[in-house]
Amino acid sequence: MAERNKRALLDLLKRPENEVCADCGSTEPDWASYNLGVFLCLDCVGVHRMLGTHISKVKSLRLDNWNDDQVEFMAATGNESAKMKYEQYVPPSYRRPTHRDCQVLREQWIRAKYERNEFMDVERQSYLSGIKEGLLWKRGKDDSKFQQRLFMLNEKENVLKYYVKRDANQPKCSINLSEVNATFCPDKIGNPNGMQLSFIKDGSTRNIYVYSDDGQDIVDWYNAIRSANYNRLKTAYPGASDDDLNNKLTRDYKIEGQLYKTGPRGTGFKKRWFTLDDRRLMYFSDALNAHAKGEVFIGYKGDGYNIREGFPQGINQVTNSFPFTLVTPDRDYYFCAETKQDQEDWINMFRKTIDRVLYPQDQCVAAKFVHKRNKPLQGIVSIKNKLT
Ligand SMILES: [Zn+2]
Repeated sequence: MAERNKRALLDLLKRPENEVCADCGSTEPDWASYNLGVFLCLDCVGVHRMLGTHISKVKSLRLDNWNDDQVEFMAATGNESAKMKYEQYVPPSYRRPTHRDCQVLREQWIRAKYERNEFMDVERQSYLSGIKEGLLWKRGKDDSKFQQRLFMLNEKENVLKYYVKRDANQPKCSINLSEVNATFCPDKIGNPNGMQLSFIKDGSTRNIYVYSDDGQDIVDWYNAIRSANYNRLKTAYPGASDDDLNNKLTRDYKIEGQLYKTGPRGTGFKKRWFTLDDRRLMYFSDALNAHAKGEVFIGYKGDGYNIREGFPQGINQVTNSFPFTLVTPDRDYYFCAETKQDQEDWINMFRKTIDRVLYPQDQCVAAKFVHKRNKPLQGIVSIKNKLT
């Protein structure tokens, strides 16, 4: 009987709806929640276990024994009908995580679905209200200490601001909400609920690093920012589909990490933290700096941009490193990666970027950089250019 049930379960897994994990979409789910009726991957089962058996009871499809009733329930439910129930009212702006996303996004998605039943009742979706306030731990601009600050988001006033003291009259910083990008960066901050807010101020990128003690709260902040962006874009582009808009609400960085870079003459390598934000390559002396030391626009290959492994003759690489050259119309940039894998990842991402034609908004950014060419070269293009 055990064998028959196991076979029946593996047959259910062959149904198209059950071929991927119900929560993160990863392939070959080997587990299931037998009271919710969903097929799951190992990572998501880890989260389901955290919820407790009063919410979700999990079993391995291959390693555990299943009785007839449990198999029948799985056959009668499955990922599709569970989705119709638990994901009935997922807002179009809500970030649906995949297996590649950070733990807090995946965990809160699962908790929102099955523990808080957030998507069965729109009244529970507080991040759609256009107003949010609360305390977040914020990293000091010039020191590395995190201190609690009162943050306020107001969609109608198009503002995100924070206060040093609760009863202060003036906010310490007030930002146009429409210019804020939010992305999770748990590794960089060293906190599972770490989030990076960035915006352009006085022509350069300003980064603010925050986290909350509670995972739900930081994901609510994130989705409140996405919801505000969605409503603004929906008004500006009434014909755009939700899928199109959804990709524009927040940007995750294409690639980030340590590289060695040098000046235009190829001497004196320094270790820097690099971030590729769409077509903007920024570098920092420290990953958590408030401001980039410099920014480089990465254009289209037809306009004189190229990426190559290795260095031209006469340029010496850092010992035991993996060199590559970024060619731009202004000058060549010499980088050394610490591992072969890093070198490949960066080259691949640069190649993807220069292979992609420019959107109208990219042209606008590019024009600001090109303008700079009339001035003497000073290493990486100055961040003083206003990027809009
Ligand atoms: Zn999963």
